[in-house]
Formats: sequence, structure tokens, C-alpha cells
Amino acid sequence: MHGDYFVKVLLEETTVLVREAGAEFGGALAIVTSLQREGVVMVDLAMRVLGGIRVMTIDTGRMPAGTLEMMEAVEARYGIRIERIRPDEAEVAAMVETHGRNLFYDSVPKRSLCCNIRKVWPLARALKGVGAYFTGLRRGQSETRKDVPLFDRAGAPVKINALAGWSAEDVAEYTAAHGLPENRLYGEGYTSIGCEPCTRPTKAGEDERAGRWWWETDEARECGLHFSPSGKVERTADVLLREVLEKVREKAR
Ligand code: SF4
Repeated sequence: MHGDYFVKVLLEETTVLVREAGAEFGGALAIVTSLQREGVVMVDLAMRVLGGIRVMTIDTGRMPAGTLEMMEAVEARYGIRIERIRPDEAEVAAMVETHGRNLFYDSVPKRSLCCNIRKVWPLARALKGVGAYFTGLRRGQSETRKDVPLFDRAGAPVKINALAGWSAEDVAEYTAAHGLPENRLYGEGYTSIGCEPCTRPTKAGEDERAGRWWWETDEARECGLHFSPSGKVERTADVLLREVLEKVREKAR
């Protein structure tokens, strides 16, 4: 932690930002969270500052049990219903039939295909009508996130990275101070938690997100929700995507 003075300033700044976001986007504001510590802190802050907010999470069908438990724990604590965003069943079936259930270990484009079908597309469909959403991104999470802005207005909906300036320690201390529920996988050495087959615990000295898609290089380790993949990966994934969609269309005929 930075010390009490900085914590107070950080919290005040974040509270002001949440209030401003509420004033600008009103009922079109949401939180999209994977129920890691950052997401729960965002839910807690939004409930305190705004009195309520739409909360959405992506259930890819490959989530660890600890994350599924978190959905229920957060719902119980705040008396809310978290919207589960799920992939299109026909797309998942066609992808698995073509490339196998664990295709992501084969190549970055295949992993990108899986992330697109299980996460990126379902989220894009679910965000229709959402004007802006809070994320749990922090600059300290990895090299690829070091320049994350507070308000990302590059696309629609607007992404609000309200915790961009928080450290992992700030988040952990807020969690402890307010008795927030947390994913039990943190107790097993995980520092970032995604789909079960694509996440492992991290070792001392590793990047917080080193356990995500650990078999890939650093630059590839984003799922497309927050960053565009490199053009090459995207183009190859597009070809794979077209094949899967063609299979879906064939089956529907
Ligand atoms: S994290 Fe892994 S299992 Fe989850 S959507 Fe991406 S590739 Fe698929």
C-alpha cells in the first residue's frame, strides 16, 4: 500500500470518477467483470457511490469452480442478479468439432478463435445498449497494460478503467478492509484468474498475468476484449472463424 494519505487520495479520486461516470452515462452504465478482486472492488464502489449498477460477467463454459462460486457470493452480498453472458452454443459446437475442445494450446490464432467465440463476440452482442462499462484493468498488471487510460473513448461503448492507478496491494487491502468475497484461487497462488484450462498459478517475481495463456509469448497475452490482437494473428483467426461459421450455417440448412 502507498500509505494512508495516498490510499485516501486514491479512493477520493476513484469515487469522484465513478460519480462523474454515473452522471454522464446514467442507466447506460455497467460493470463487466470476471469477478477477480478488481471487479468486486468496482462493484462495491459503484454500489456505494451510485446505489446500484448493472453487473455483467462472461461465462465462457470453461470457468473454474472458484469463479462460479464468486458469482453467487457477489449476488448474495449485494442482493443483485449478475447477468451471465454466454457464447452461442452452435458456434462453440462447430469450433470444438473442427479443432477439439482444447484447441487453444495448438496456436495463438486458434486460441484467439476460442477467445473470440467464447468471450469477445458474446460480449459485443451483450453490450448493445450499454453506453459505458467499468473494467478491472490496472496499469501494474502487465507490460501491455502500462498505459491504460482512465476513460478509453476510442470505441463504443466507452471503457472506464477506474482502477487503472491502483496497485495489486491497494486492491487487496480494500478487499480485506471491506471484507469483500474473493476467489479461493488467490489462496492457491493465482494472481490473475481466467478460464480454467488457460490459467495457472504464478511464481514469485513473475508478472501478475504470467499465468494467463502461459505457453504463449508476452505480446499475445490478451484475449481481444481489451486490445486488438496483432494483425497477423487476427487475420489467421478470421480465416478459422469463417470456417467455423460456415459449419454453423451448413448445420442450420
Ligand atoms: S481463455 Fe482459453 S478457454 Fe477461455 S475463451 Fe480464451 S482460449 Fe478459450
